[in-house]
This record gives sequence, C-alpha cells and structure tokens, in this order.
Amino acid sequence: GVDITQPVEQTLRTCQLNARDQGIEMIQEIEADLPAVWGNYDLMLQVLTNLLGNALKFSPNGGKVAVRAYRLSTSELESAPDQVRIEVSDTGIGIAPEDQPAIFDRFYRAENRVHTLEGTGLGLSIVNNIIDKHHSKMHLVSEVGVGTTFWFDLIVYQEEAIPLDEDSLILDSAELEAQVL
Ligand code: ATP
Ligand code: MG
Repeated sequence: GVDITQPVEQTLRTCQLNARDQGIEMIQEIEADLPAVWGNYDLMLQVLTNLLGNALKFSPNGGKVAVRAYRLSTSELESAPDQVRIEVSDTGIGIAPEDQPAIFDRFYRAENRVHTLEGTGLGLSIVNNIIDKHHSKMHLVSEVGVGTTFWFDLIVYQEEAIPLDEDSLILDSAELEAQVL
C-alpha cells in the first residue's frame, strides 16, 4: 500500500520554487487519517509530478494550485470497494471542450499551447496509462479562462482482502514502469 501523503508532499516540495517564481499559491488538503491505497509509489510520484507540472505550466502568474485527497463517501461508492480520490486543480487557462477528449492522447497539445513552448504532449498519456494500470480512470472538468481539475480514485489497501486478483494489479515498480512508458 502507498500512503498518498508521501508522494504528494514530495511533489509539492519539488514544485515549490516554480510556484514561488510564478506567485502561485500551492494548497495541500489531505484528509486526516487517510488510509493507504493500492498502488506504486514511484508511479504515483510520476502522476503527481505531471499533473502539478501542467497545473503550473498552464497557469498565469498569481493563481492557485491545489492537491486534495479524501475518502469517497459510502453513497458515492455504492457497492464498490473503499476508495480515495486524488484531485489536482488550478486556476489556469483551461482546456476548451473540443480539446478535452484528445487530451490524454500521445503527443496531443491543445490550442492553448501557444502559451508555452516547452513540452512534448506525452505527460498526460503516461498519467493515463499509469492510472489505467491501477484499474482506475482519469477525469477532468475544465473551463477556459477559469481553470482545470483532474482527478482519479484509488482502492484502499487492505492486507487481508486483496480486492483484485494479483495478476491484474501489478505492483512491481520495474514491471509496471516498463508497461506504461
Ligand atoms: P509534456 O507533458 O510532455 O511536457 P505537455 O504538458 O504539453 O507536454 P501533456 O501533459 O500531455 O503535454 O498535456 C497535453 C495538453 O493538454 C497540453 O499541451 C495542454 O494543451 C493541455 N493541458 C494539460 N494540462 C493542462 C492544464 N492543467 N491546464 C490547461 N491545459 C492543460
Ligand atoms: Mg505535461
């Protein structure tokens, strides 16, 4: 199991200098007593680094970037296993509705790319692959000129009750990284 607090804090530390340069406030809201989740630490770091990197890159100076992690309520889960939601939101330039369906494709860069020169358009496709390997899905809501929120849900780790058969959830770093890159 991964304590999601660790990769979140590590990523925020890495981004802190960039955020300060841009005058962007970084907000971290991790629910108290959050349980560990099924996942791989290095890959979570990669996901958060990409999402936070994008949030900063596609935000004008002076905004806010937030990372939140909280348990889904029983009503949201219905009969599904317990899950934790991880959200990264920004007050950036946003993604137009017509770009949103392609945003996870390899090498896709939206029209908003005129605001920045760096990047290959691979970040979100890697994020999507990693979250797919964790048997979950990426979601987003975005409004041009207002901001963007990306989120995904991860299954709560329980030693005694493995929620998925072991073959289907590969937790070995090297193997998983080889598959997603
Ligand atoms: P790379 O991640 O390879 O450096 P990139 O950041 O351009 O390049 P992705 O991370 O895959 O590529 O994102 C794809 C495109 O989605 C971006 O080029 C940008 O148009 C749009 N995008 C991604 N995140 C955001 C965001 N938080 N706000 C606005 N647009 C975004
Ligand atoms: Mg990127």
